[in-house]
Amino acid sequence: MKIAFKKLGSHPLHFEANRDNARFSGDLILKKGNVAQLNGTITGSISIPCDLCAEEIEHPLNEEVTFYLSDGIYEGSDEELDIVEIDHSTIDLDELLHSEIELIKSDYFCCKNCEGTSLDREF
Ligand SMILES: [Zn+2]
Repeated sequence: MKIAFKKLGSHPLHFEANRDNARFSGDLILKKGNVAQLNGTITGSISIPCDLCAEEIEHPLNEEVTFYLSDGIYEGSDEELDIVEIDHSTIDLDELLHSEIELIKSDYFCCKNCEGTSLDREF
């Protein structure tokens, strides 16, 4: 799903995107000028290989996602904001979901069999 930036306004615009078993849905709202806020959740599941034994495990997702989108280069000074600059004034939700999934996948993960080998995270 793609949304033209100019369609955004002060009323939240609902979006949805799917990738494999993952589902991304939420709202986009224009904050000021060329900056919009995205509030969404990622649900469903993704398949992640265990860091220790490499076995692919279906991992349930329940992630709250909030970040800002800038139409073109962001020139503001709020450096602590999590800003994603978009190209061609088009918000590509599938692409955003893809990067979020890659981010989750890059986290340390281990399957039930290897659980306890490391105490970094609990599943
Ligand atoms: Zn494992």
